[in-house]
Amino acid sequence: MSVKTIALVAHDHKKADIVVWAQKNKEALALFKLVATGTTGSLLIEKVGLDITRLQSGPLGGDQQIGALIAEQKLDALFFFWDPMNPVPHDPDVKALLRLCSVWNVPVACNVSSADMLVSSPLFLDPNYKADLPNYEK
Ligand code: PGA
Repeated sequence: MSVKTIALVAHDHKKADIVVWAQKNKEALALFKLVATGTTGSLLIEKVGLDITRLQSGPLGGDQQIGALIAEQKLDALFFFWDPMNPVPHDPDVKALLRLCSVWNVPVACNVSSADMLVSSPLFLDPNYKADLPNYEK
């Protein structure tokens, strides 16, 4: 039984959403090891009081750091409130991060309703549940 690690990321126009969502789900989130991109992490520490390891800001490589955790099988879920209405300078990193979630079968919630469902899922909360690891050797 091991504590799951989850990553939290929100684009600028979605930061208010993730703060409100994290306040609502603070108790559940506190059960996990949390990592976040720089600015999202600062906001969640300051406004919600969560214990979070902050990575680089997204445009400076934070998304890629989360991608590296996925590639090393060190991440169990991603809550990524990305912005469908505004371009970001690190769009290729966003695409790469979402791709790696599919490559490695990592659950990803991309808005408030999917985050609500993922964080309240019995499987997600079960410390013994481990998602299948795809085998690319064959
Ligand atoms: P930020 O990065 O939390 O540092 O703003 C988020 C992102 O744009 O990926």
